[in-house]
Amino acid sequence: MENIHNLADASLWLPVWQQKALHIAAFSVFLLFIILLMLFMNRLTGRRRLFNALRYITLCISFVYVGLVLKAQPTTTNIVILLNALRDIEFPLSTLYILEPYIFLSFIFILFTLIVWGRGVFCGWLCPYGAMLELLNKVYQKFSRFRIALPEKVHWKMVYLKYAIFLVIAGVSFYNFMLSEYLTEVEPFRTFVLKLRREWYFVLYFAVITAASVIIYRAFCRYLCPLGAALALPSLLKRMNITRVKFHDLCGTCKICGRDCSAQAIGKEGYIDSSECFYCMQCQLNFWDEDRCPVLIKQKAKGARAKTETL
Ligand code: SF4
Ligand code: SF4
Repeated sequence: MENIHNLADASLWLPVWQQKALHIAAFSVFLLFIILLMLFMNRLTGRRRLFNALRYITLCISFVYVGLVLKAQPTTTNIVILLNALRDIEFPLSTLYILEPYIFLSFIFILFTLIVWGRGVFCGWLCPYGAMLELLNKVYQKFSRFRIALPEKVHWKMVYLKYAIFLVIAGVSFYNFMLSEYLTEVEPFRTFVLKLRREWYFVLYFAVITAASVIIYRAFCRYLCPLGAALALPSLLKRMNITRVKFHDLCGTCKICGRDCSAQAIGKEGYIDSSECFYCMQCQLNFWDEDRCPVLIKQKAKGARAKTETL
C-alpha cells in the first residue's frame, strides 16, 4: 500500500516529467509513428523505395535521437527490477515510475507491440543499439561482401544461448542484485549510450562485439542479448506461419525469402520463427516484387504475352 501512496505522490516524479516534457512529446510521437508503420506495413512493402526510405529514416532516429540524445536504451536491468518487484508482490508500477520517462514509455511500447507483433518491432525498429548494428551492416555491405553466416544447425542451437544468459542474470538477481548488475555488462549498451566514455576494457568489449555483429549479421542480437531473449520468450511459445508468403502456389519451393533473411529466421519448413524475426520485412518486399518473386515474374510474362497476342 505504501508503494501505491508513493505512486500517488506526484511530487516525486512530476518535476522530472515536466522538465523533459518536450522530449517526452517528441519521443511519444516517434513511438506512434513506428506503430503506424506497422499497421500499414502490408501497403508499404508493396512500394520498396518508400519502404526503404521510411525504414532507414526510422533507424537513424532510433540510433541518434533515441540512443545518443535521449539515452533511452532499455536494458535487462529494467526487466530484472520488474521480476524482483513481482516476486516480492510489490506493486510493479512503484518500480516503473521511478525509471526514466523514456524507458517507461519504451516499455509501454514494448508491451503493446510484443502482444500484437512480437519482439521484432522493438529489436528491428526502436532499440538504439540494434538500430546502430542494422545501419552499420548496411554501410558494411556497400564496401565488402565478406560475411559469415553460421550453418543452419549451429545457428538454431546458438539462438538458445541468449535465453541461458538471461535466465542466469534473472536467477542471480534474486539472491544478489549487485552481482546480476555486473552480469548485465554482457550488454554493450551502457558503453554505447555513454558514447564510449568508459574504462578501456568496456570500450574494447563494445568494439569486438559490434565488429563481430557486422561480419556475422547482428550476432549479438541473435545469440547473446539477454534483453532480446526476455522479449522473445513469449514468442518462443508460438510459431508464426508465413501465411503471406504461402499465398503464392509456388511458395516454399524457390527459397528466395529464406536466403534473403539475414537473421536466418525462416526455417527449412518455411515458417518464420517470430522469436528470431526482426521485422525487417525483406521477405515481404520479395513477396510483392514483380522482378524477384518467380510467381509474379511468370504472371507478368503471361500478361505481357497476352497483350502482344491481342495486338
Ligand atoms: S536483441 Fe538486444 S541489442 Fe538487439 S535489438 Fe533486441 S534488445 Fe536491442
Ligand atoms: S526477412 Fe522476414 S523473416 Fe527474416 S527477419 Fe526480415 S521480416 Fe523476419
